Amino acid sequence: MFCVIPCYNEQEVLPETSKRLRAKMEQLISEGKIAADSRVVFVNDGSKDATWDMIAGLHQADPLFQGINLSRNRGHQNALIAGLMTVRQICDMAISMDADLQDDINAMDEMIDKYLTGTDIVYGVRSSRAKDTFFKKFTAESFYKMMNALGANTVYNHADYRLMSKRALDGLSQFGEVNLFLRGMVPMVGYSSDVVYYERAERFAGESKYPLKKMLQFATEGITSLSTKPIRMITGLGFFIFLVSIIVLIYCLVRYAHGNTIQGWTTTVLSVWAIGGLIMISLGIIGEYIGKIYLESKGRPRFIIESYLKDEKDVVELKDHQN
Ligand code: UDP
Ligand code: MG
Repeated sequence: MFCVIPCYNEQEVLPETSKRLRAKMEQLISEGKIAADSRVVFVNDGSKDATWDMIAGLHQADPLFQGINLSRNRGHQNALIAGLMTVRQICDMAISMDADLQDDINAMDEMIDKYLTGTDIVYGVRSSRAKDTFFKKFTAESFYKMMNALGANTVYNHADYRLMSKRALDGLSQFGEVNLFLRGMVPMVGYSSDVVYYERAERFAGESKYPLKKMLQFATEGITSLSTKPIRMITGLGFFIFLVSIIVLIYCLVRYAHGNTIQGWTTTVLSVWAIGGLIMISLGIIGEYIGKIYLESKGRPRFIIESYLKDEKDVVELKDHQN
C-alpha cells in the first residue's frame, strides 16, 4: 500500500503528519492489513520553504518515507496525479490524503477493510463541516450543488481523500487530459466503489493553500473540464431570447400601427444592454471551452519529476502518463 501526500509549503505540519502516518502504518502492518513494504510518498509540489529538505531527511532516517520532487509548482491536482501515476507501477492500492491532517487518518482502517472485501475505489466523505469556517462551508457546499446541477457528477462532500486499487489507478492513467479535476474523473473510471465517513478537522498548522481565487478557478475547472452543459444552456438561452424578441417585434408593430413610435427609447437602450451582456457572457463561456481545447491540444506534460527518493528494489519509470 502507498500513501500519497501532495505537499506545498507544508514545513509546519510535516513533522506531525509524518509522525502520525508512521504510527498508523505500523499499526496497519502489524494487523496484517497492508504489506510490510508499504510506503508513504510525499510529493513536493515546488515548495518555497524547507518542505523538500524535510522529506529528504525523513527518507534518509526511515525507508517508510519516500519523496517525489516536482520540477516546479503545478497545483494540488497535478501533484496528486504525479504521485499516483508513479506509485501505480509498484503498489496494490494507494490512498491519497492532504498533508495538513484535515482528513482523519483513522478512516484508513475502514477504507482498507472495504478494499480487502473487493471494493476498488473508496471515497472519504466528510460527515459534517462543523469545524470549517462559515465561508468555507458555504462556498464548498454551493460548489458541490452547482457542480451536480451543471452535470459534473461528483461524490458529495468528498475531497481527495480516497483509496484506489491498482486497476482503478491503471484506469485513471488512461485519462490523458491536462485539465485535471480528479474528483470528477475518478467516478468515471468505474469499478465498484464505496464511501467511508469521517469528521474533517481543522488544518493542523500553516495556512490554506486555496484562497478564494484558486477556489473559484478550481470550480470553473471542475465544471468546464467535466461537462458541456453550460454550452447547451447558452443555446437554450439563445432560443428563449429569440422568442422574446418575436413578441417584442409584434408589440412594436402594433404600436407602429397606432402611430406612436417615438417613445420607447428606454426599452430600446435597456434591451441593447441586456442582450449585449448576455452575448458577452455566452462568448466568455464558449471562450473558456476553446481555451481548454487549446491547452489539451498542446498535450503538455501534467508534471515533470525532478527526482524520486525510493527503495532500491522498486523499478519505476518517471513518465507523465499513459502506459
Ligand atoms: N497543495 C499542493 N499544491 C498547491 C496547493 C496545495 O500540493 O499548489 C497541497 C497542500 O500541501 C495540501 C493539499 O494540497 O496537502 C490541500 O491544500 P490545502 O489544505 O491548503 O487546501 P484546503 O484544505 O484549504 O482546501
Ligand atoms: Mg487543507
